[in-house]
Amino acid sequence: MSSDASKVELSLAIPCYNEEAVLDIFVARIREILDPLNLPYELVFVDDGSSDNTLEKLKGFRSNDRRIKILAFSRNFGKEPALSAALQHCTGNAIVPIDADLQEPPELIPEMLKLWREGYEVVTAQRSSRDSDSFTKRFTAQWFYRVFNMISSTRLPYDTGDYRLMDRKVVEAFKGISERNRFMKGIFAWLGFKQTSVTFKREERSAGNSKFGFKKLLGFAIRSIFAFSSQPLRFLSYMGVLFSVAAFSYASFLLIRTLAFGRDVPGYASLMVAILFMGGVQLIGLGVLGEYLGHIYDEVKRRPLFIIRESHGIETHLK
Ligand code: UDP
Ligand code: MG
Repeated sequence: MSSDASKVELSLAIPCYNEEAVLDIFVARIREILDPLNLPYELVFVDDGSSDNTLEKLKGFRSNDRRIKILAFSRNFGKEPALSAALQHCTGNAIVPIDADLQEPPELIPEMLKLWREGYEVVTAQRSSRDSDSFTKRFTAQWFYRVFNMISSTRLPYDTGDYRLMDRKVVEAFKGISERNRFMKGIFAWLGFKQTSVTFKREERSAGNSKFGFKKLLGFAIRSIFAFSSQPLRFLSYMGVLFSVAAFSYASFLLIRTLAFGRDVPGYASLMVAILFMGGVQLIGLGVLGEYLGHIYDEVKRRPLFIIRESHGIETHLK
């Protein structure tokens, strides 16, 4: 860390993917809120391979405000790698990941800072309601949290996102995680530390479109659950035992019946049902095993999480 960098008190980590439409309002609003606080801050933007003018816009901001720092990826890697990169390169004592679309009001930051100064290491922002989400999004989210909390030992709060303030210590701990599968909220919850929260109402996006469609979210949900729980594997073992016991009992029953009453030919329907059912169970089992195998494969390849093409105002030691 350079001596200049260590002076930064507050860092904002902002992943951006095709956000040219909101960046002007975002930066203006952040300045409006942070400038009066009179503390040295930096805005660390990560351009996640945008195909619009996001990067040019950011460079424009930086040309007259050196507190704006930029990393640009070689392509779109996704929000989690973008946020990870931003967190890895923040130098502040307090660090806040925030989306560029202003759905999470930056007005909360002064309050979060206050709580942080009182000694809390993590101040999460809790949404008071999910009214701005569609019915299907709320419904699926609810189920995701329910299943996740049922089978994982990491408790995931239903109403918090990535928006939070973290002490330097927490971010240093985060940097020690080499896992490639990054379900940020889960990782943050897993890290622990002394926490408190503030509440807010989630706004509509101020401009541009959401980058997460249903398919992307579903894939993300499945990966996240498998990353935080090995219960599905145990469930398979239970199923195996259950079916073995059932099969053994039925076999004994058949044997005794045959010995007592002689041979009994009919039974085609029950045979088919049993075969199809077992086939189905085995395929599900293979699917679950495959899911973990895929994760392991991803991890052992040890590819970098992201590739940086350009950096402005940030020292990068290429990973
Ligand atoms: N984002 C990103 N890379 C992606 C997708 C999204 O850096 O591949 C950023 C995006 O620019 C925004 C944040 O992640 O700052 C959250 O995205 P979005 O608002 O689309 O998600 P939603 O609020 O709909 O969940
Ligand atoms: Mg958003």
